Amino acid sequence: MRLRTYESFWLLANGLLHSYPSLHDHHETCDVAVIGGGITGALISHALTEKGYSVVLLDKRDIANGSTAATTSMLQYEIDVPLYRLADMIGEEQAALCYKSGIEAIQRLGELIGKYQLDCGFERKTSLYVAREQSDLEWLRSEFELRRKHKLGVSWLGAEEIEKEYGLRCWGGILSETAASVDAYRLAHELIAFNVSRGMKVYDQTVIKETKQDADGCLIVAEGDATVHCRKMIYCTGYEATGLLKEKTADVFYTYACISEQGIAIPEKLKKTLVWDTGSPYLYMRSTDDGRFLVGGEDALTGLTFFQNKIKERKSRKLQEMLGEMMPGISFIEDFSWAGIFGTTKDGLPYIGESPEFPGALFVLGFGGNGITFSVQGMEIVLALLEGRQHPLAHCYRFGR
Ligand SMILES: Cc1cc2nc3c(=O)[nH]c(=O)nc-3n(C[C@H](O)[C@H](O)[C@H](O)COP(=O)(O)OP(=O)(O)OC[C@H]3O[C@@H](n4cnc5c(N)ncnc54)[C@H](O)[C@@H]3O)c2cc1C
Repeated sequence: MRLRTYESFWLLANGLLHSYPSLHDHHETCDVAVIGGGITGALISHALTEKGYSVVLLDKRDIANGSTAATTSMLQYEIDVPLYRLADMIGEEQAALCYKSGIEAIQRLGELIGKYQLDCGFERKTSLYVAREQSDLEWLRSEFELRRKHKLGVSWLGAEEIEKEYGLRCWGGILSETAASVDAYRLAHELIAFNVSRGMKVYDQTVIKETKQDADGCLIVAEGDATVHCRKMIYCTGYEATGLLKEKTADVFYTYACISEQGIAIPEKLKKTLVWDTGSPYLYMRSTDDGRFLVGGEDALTGLTFFQNKIKERKSRKLQEMLGEMMPGISFIEDFSWAGIFGTTKDGLPYIGESPEFPGALFVLGFGGNGITFSVQGMEIVLALLEGRQHPLAHCYRFGR
């Protein structure tokens, strides 16, 4: 019998870092109420607090116990939809803007973490996007040329070089200068705790019964008839927002990840590089700041909960097999494996802004493979929208597109 955790590595490694009271029977008033205390809510509430807004953050679970506890936290500017395909959908200039904004977001997040000395395992890395099949080479080369044209900091590596330097078998790939990895669970906790120390209020384990609009703003009624009255409400509720909205924003499914024991032997260059491939669904991998290696992918439809643990174990074996094909001889000894809900949008872009279904409220839904990078971009977009300013990305990330 093999007894194994079903929880993500980050939750177990870090434990419950901070606990907050529930709203219980309190009545709060603030400028902005942020609903959802994952990495998105942490970043958005930080931007608001920094700007001088009074903020109340609410979550129905413990802080960062949604997708943020499960994420493998590769910080990439690269969107699930390649630049050349996004250009066909929204035009080349807009597509390039979305890609460039990803680079800026990673840099901004690094600065924020450095400025407040947040202890969250943030490491700057490069990113390598490799061709799984020979037939992928042609479009991947065109993708590279387009990224080079837009000065996205890329170089092309041939198959031999990748095998020699990174120990990976593939057909060639795009190396990007800007990427990073982080422990998003820890980052969300650190950021929220920091802002609580300067006046932000946080209530976890708080179930919201209803929200109402009135002339002065919004009223949030939580269980126990506790209330929050605010001028603006911002939903940072992650994938669960798909159940709240009638508009189809994302397809959701399970995605799987497993992580090795510490001290795994991998090439030095690979330790400093995020890797993903052109497969569908894609396989991805990265090292962690405590000397492990993680591999993820194998997305599948959300199935019967009853079988989830069995499926997860099968998927984990499959991920390791695929890793073995790419890195023959790697000695990957699994320490933890887990699954989490993941969602993709039709164009790989997030939904940030006002939904006509919830007038007066804003949403920051960083869906897709680089959800965290999108949430960082959400910080500036939200501030602009609150101040009635235009933001160049708001049009690309709008509802009803
Ligand atoms: C296995 C896996 C790997 C991933 N890898 C990456 C990656 O490499 N890079 C990347 O950028 N992204 C990745 N993602 C996606 C990433 O996890 C998400 O983009 C990110 O965690 C979303 O954060 P969030 O704060 O928006 O959502 P969440 O972390 O889910 O937070 C939302 C919060 O809202 C609360 N909430 C929801 N509804 C309500 C309500 N009605 N009332 C009160 N509270 C509510 C929830 O309790 C939750 O705490 C991955 C996801 C998974 C599962």
